[in-house]
Order: sequence, then C-alpha cells, then structure tokens
Amino acid sequence: MTNYFNGVVVRSSGARPAVSELRLPEVGPGQVRVRIRAAGVCHSDLSMVNGTIRVPYPLVLGHEAAGEVVEAGEHVTRAAAGDHVVLNWQPPCRDCWFCGHGEPWLCSTSSGVAALENGITLDGGPVHVALGLGAFAHQVVAPENAVIRVPAELGFERAALLGCGVLTGTGAVRNTARVAAGESVVVIGLGGVGLSVVAAARAAGAAEVIAVDVTEAKKGLAETAGATDFLVSTDALSKEIRVRTSGRGADHAFECVGRAATIRAAWRAARRGGRVTVVGMGSNDDLVSLSALDIFSSARTLSSSVYGAADPDVEVPRLAEAVLSGALVLDHLITDRIGLADVPAAFDRMARGEGARSVVLP
Ligand SMILES: [Zn+2]
Ligand SMILES: [Zn+2]
Repeated sequence: MTNYFNGVVVRSSGARPAVSELRLPEVGPGQVRVRIRAAGVCHSDLSMVNGTIRVPYPLVLGHEAAGEVVEAGEHVTRAAAGDHVVLNWQPPCRDCWFCGHGEPWLCSTSSGVAALENGITLDGGPVHVALGLGAFAHQVVAPENAVIRVPAELGFERAALLGCGVLTGTGAVRNTARVAAGESVVVIGLGGVGLSVVAAARAAGAAEVIAVDVTEAKKGLAETAGATDFLVSTDALSKEIRVRTSGRGADHAFECVGRAATIRAAWRAARRGGRVTVVGMGSNDDLVSLSALDIFSSARTLSSSVYGAADPDVEVPRLAEAVLSGALVLDHLITDRIGLADVPAAFDRMARGEGARSVVLP
C-alpha cells in the first residue's frame, strides 16, 4: 500500500516552510502508523527553519504531537489500531549505558535532531523528518517505542502538548532543579515551555515565581500560569530580581530561550549558591562567557534539562492523569488552532513573541 499525505516541509535554511505531498513508507516490523490529530508548534521547529539548529534538508517539521494509531506492524506490542498516543521524539532503546543507568532522555541510540525515515519521500527524493517524527503531517510512521498510549478522554490537543513543551517544562522543575516549597524562582522566556515551568514551579510550592519576557504581551498568560511577578527584560533585570528576593537573587533561574544572553541573565538572576537550569535549545555558535572568578565565588550550579530529564514512558501517563484530575491545566497554553498551511504564520507570531502554543490540527 502506497500512502500519499501532506506535510509541512522546509527545503533549505531560512526558506519559508510549505505544504508538500509526501509518500510514507509501508509500516515495517516494530513500527506504527499514526494519524496526527494535533501538533504543537514548538520553538525548536522554528530553530530548525532559521538555522539555529543545523539540520539536513528537505525536512518535515513537527515533533510535539498526538494522534491515533491506524496501523501496527508485526511484533508491535505497545499500541494497536485505535489507540490514542502521544509521540516521543527521544524514544529510548532501553539497552544502552544511559538507559541502563536511569537516564533514558540521554539515550545514545536516539535519532538526534533529524532522521532519514525509511522510505519516506518528497517528489520521489529522500526527505528527513524532524526529531525522527515530522509530525506536521497527516500521518507519520514511527518505531513503536516512539508512541505512548494515553486515555482518549484527554483529547488530542492537550495530549500533544505533553509530548514536548509540558514534559520539558515540568521535568525541568521537578527532576532537574527540584524546586522546593517556599523557594524563589525566575523564569526567562515565556513560550510554551517557559509557561509550563511557571506552572510547575507554582505547583511545587515556590513562594515567588518571577516571569520574564521581552514585552508586556505575555503578562496575562504568565499570571494565568501562576506567576507572582512579571518583569520585562531590561539591563536592570538582575537588580529588579534582587529587589524582589530580599537582595539575594532567586534560588532558581530557568532559561527557556536558548541564547547566550539569556543564559547570562539567568546566571545573574540566581543567588549565590543558587541553581541555573538551561531549558532552551540554542545554537552551537552562541558562546556563553562567564568569568572564572564569578563561577568560583558565586557557587552557583549551572545545568541543562534535556527533555525534562524525564522518562516519557513513565511521566507522560502521569501528566495525563494530572490533566484529567484537574491538577494540571493546559488549556490556556493553546492560543491558536491552525491548519498545516498556517505553520509559517505561527512561526511569525512566535518570532514576534505573541501567544503561547499554536496547535496544528491537520
Ligand atoms: Zn519541542
Ligand atoms: Zn538507550
């Protein structure tokens, strides 16, 4: 069976993505075919278009997605036709050193930023799929370990957000930084991930959650997510943060942009002995400079959080339960519902700092 479907393809760095016809491969052993029902537009998608993250082209964009399994290949045990699933862009092999040591988010056999899927073509030629998925498309073919079953009552839109932004933001707070009750938190960059960090920090009992963005536009969203303070980023940011944190700086600073300048801002926002967590995925050419004396005397911890330092097989079902019980509210994160052809306009809104998540409904 040959399957033609539409997907959003970018053909070179900086080019405007466009809807193109793709041919999907047949479903092989251990693979599933998923009809994509919702896919969030994540900042990493934009980074794959504008060259911040170097990827091979042509590339089918999209990796934060949920859908319905329409076909399961031979030997597939994790999902069957009809199941509702969240896609995992870093499916762990469960066999390498990292998987064996409880760090499946660092799995050494995962696909990395882009992968050439077996048999998928564009105009008869090979095409890459973002993060092994390429989910801005009507359908994807993926290995079975890249799908996680979720209850149908969760709904596809909310399920999609669990696949990247919410898992990443929540995991950064709980697993990497381990924010504790009463602590102070600064969050720089209020896209889908940053707003998830804000919500998770409040849920963890943080006393102050100071949300920071480049314009006032995100103030309402930040407050809805649980921010206690909102600041527009200026040169005086670290001073304004110290004013709000008894003169010390925050116990935690989260950088949710992926730029050297904002990593430095997060560094300066944290108190002596505080913890700086980089959640944004930046460029290889963007160097962060910190003085040797500052690193020593500030006694701060700087670390990153890859995919929320989470095991998605464990945490996505938990997050789904939290959404269904009302403990985790995601609906305010969805600010636009769009079609495949509207993805470039969603990137424009993201670049202008507007809205939280645009969700593609193919
Ligand atoms: Zn993402
Ligand atoms: Zn592994």
